[in-house]
Amino acid sequence: MSSFTPSTPAVPTHALPSYLQAEHLGPWGTYLQQVERVTPYLGNLSRWVETLKRPKRILIVDVPIELDNGTIAHFEGYRVQHNLSRGPGKGGVRFHQDVTLSEVMALSAWMSIKNAAVNVPYGGAKGGVRVDPQTLSRGELERLTRRYTSEIGLLIGPSKDIPAPDVNTNGQIMAWMMDTYSMNTGATATGVVTGKPVELGGSLGRVEATGRGVFTVGVEAARRTGLVLEGARVAVQGFGNVGGTAAKLFAEAGAKVVAVQDHTGTICHSSGLDVPALLAHVKAHGGVGGFAGAEAMAPADFWGVACDILIPAALEGQITQDNAARIQAKLVIEGANGPTTPEADDILHDKGVLVLPDVIANAGGVTVSYFEWVQDFSSFFWSEDEINARLVRIMKEAFDGVWQVAQEHRVSLRTATFIVACTRILRAREMRGLYP
Ligand code: GLU
Repeated sequence: MSSFTPSTPAVPTHALPSYLQAEHLGPWGTYLQQVERVTPYLGNLSRWVETLKRPKRILIVDVPIELDNGTIAHFEGYRVQHNLSRGPGKGGVRFHQDVTLSEVMALSAWMSIKNAAVNVPYGGAKGGVRVDPQTLSRGELERLTRRYTSEIGLLIGPSKDIPAPDVNTNGQIMAWMMDTYSMNTGATATGVVTGKPVELGGSLGRVEATGRGVFTVGVEAARRTGLVLEGARVAVQGFGNVGGTAAKLFAEAGAKVVAVQDHTGTICHSSGLDVPALLAHVKAHGGVGGFAGAEAMAPADFWGVACDILIPAALEGQITQDNAARIQAKLVIEGANGPTTPEADDILHDKGVLVLPDVIANAGGVTVSYFEWVQDFSSFFWSEDEINARLVRIMKEAFDGVWQVAQEHRVSLRTATFIVACTRILRAREMRGLYP
């Protein structure tokens, strides 16, 4: 009996909990591979890199609500705080029928990287409810939002963790979240969420901020690579808040939006779609499908469309090893979080396609969320021009820094952004030290 030798060390130092391992593929697996790629560039800070491979805190909640027909429905809810070394948790809340723990973990980690990349004083967090909000009445949606907010009330707060809109959530949902938190704590706390309506402490420019940031880094990359925006052909996947605004700004700059895909259809028009008319159609009908000023095309053909700039602005895992080789764009700007798998990243790199990664390209949203939070704390509100000017300055400076690191180390812009961001996070981690 005494000859028994355990096959693993008594105190495993690097064994990940099972639910964090890479074989649980999906978005968390993608994120882990991205961290692997950056580790050789972290120098002495790589001693702390394990911190980035596990979320600090995960809360799984049951969200029961009474439906309008009198039955009780239960929904799966999550809030994940990936890292709090640089400040409170920050990141959106997603309502989608495909939400999983792996997805929310990855999205929370990408928030840590993104917030550090643009140097706003936040850690990273994300939340989600596994629900198709289209199937709920307005009353059911409000009850779901309020119950979810109460359940995650353990974690959130203006100086602890600040949710915001993400896929299928908006200013109204943020208003209900703010009200629920405020009712539970006994004082109106506008700074508990961002992306609120302007009447309730929201910020001017917040709705358009992510799309404006996508456009800003696109302009910077085009300038550096000699791509002329006037007449450039743009294809956009996802025509919500991010894709719709980005398309509008590119069209205003003289580019032609030649193809758009969303969950309702795929449309194209080789001489350029009328973007304001398409935005009005989407507002009225909930998607691009059926738009009169375009031809419909097969969804699978979207990725091979002749274009100069491709903007994935929908969900993660869209550009994969199955379609990356067909992409004709010179520039891919990731409006969505995690749209490109690591295998597809390599294919695009080998083809000479420049990818502006999500963790910098879509950071405009959280940047203006930061402005909103600062305005709420000081109860002093800025003009839209001031907000847009500050947003553009932050995005340009961050992009410039990342571009230089990419040149210096001869790495992709994604790895360069991870180098900048992970260095900031792990420096903070090291300076704070371990407690107790
Ligand atoms: N959901 C957005 C994102 O993925 C915004 C997050 C925020 O403003 O906190 O970046």
